[in-house]
Amino acid sequence: MNSSSNTKTLLFWLSLVFLGILLWKLVSANGDRARGDEPSYSEFIAKVDAGDIKEVVFYLSPNSYEVQGEYARPANRKFHLTVPKEAAPTLMGQLREKGVPIKVTGIRSGDWVPILLNAAPLILLVGFCLFLMRQMQSRGRAALGRLGTTRSGIGYDLHRLEEGRPLIVGGIELPFHKGPVGHSDGDVLAHAVCDALLGAAGLGDIGTHFPDSDPKWKGANSLLFLEHAKKLLEEKKLAIEHVDAVVILEKPKLGPHFPKMREALAKSLGVPVEKIHLKAKTNEGVDAVGRGEAIAAHAVATLVSR
Ligand code: MG
Repeated sequence: MNSSSNTKTLLFWLSLVFLGILLWKLVSANGDRARGDEPSYSEFIAKVDAGDIKEVVFYLSPNSYEVQGEYARPANRKFHLTVPKEAAPTLMGQLREKGVPIKVTGIRSGDWVPILLNAAPLILLVGFCLFLMRQMQSRGRAALGRLGTTRSGIGYDLHRLEEGRPLIVGGIELPFHKGPVGHSDGDVLAHAVCDALLGAAGLGDIGTHFPDSDPKWKGANSLLFLEHAKKLLEEKKLAIEHVDAVVILEKPKLGPHFPKMREALAKSLGVPVEKIHLKAKTNEGVDAVGRGEAIAAHAVATLVSR
């Protein structure tokens, strides 16, 4: 848990503590009030006239005064009442006439209930917002956990082209007078995709699993490599999310053959065709690929853990 999360947790619990203290103070304040007399205004004036008031404190508020004090008779008996603001000057005059000590003050010292009453909504709002944020964060983390981890891998391959060899790209044989030289069928697209998948899974490369020194793979259909890679991914509970590849070849044009290539690749990998995306480029006559002496492919594979 990071420091920001710790702070939110602390504020959340502090807001709850504030709420608890506020409720406690309100209850205890009501208890204190219940222990004293609560005379009506006329009853209190009668007590003033009779000289039964020992001392009085006026607490100011916007529209009224709260009057608290102690009786002279009966002794040690407290009282409190609320008087309208406009009645306060007259009352104070009567008390002074009787020689009753008067104290006028604002918010009662030590009585922070009014402060809390004003601040409580804000405190509670902040606490509630933090609580919601925490809930959303935990749900977001749970959702991400369900989605699993995403991993990407890159693959590249190049094969020389020679006269009279079959040109196989993406598992499809194309009509052309040249084809790749290789231990297997030399399918650069399948090889690049296989490397991208193995790389994303952290399983090495195509040479690790299908060494060209092994006679078993001589002339092999490279789609078998993809089928094997798919099994390795399943063992690691990894699913193919997307494959994007580009084949670089001067001739022939590959675009018309892409639908069949995508079907073949998707079938070997056990995924919908929509998860396989192919592009074609020439090398603008530059280098071996541009002179028609080689074919190359790049691929990027995205996997998700299940
Ligand atoms: Mg290769």
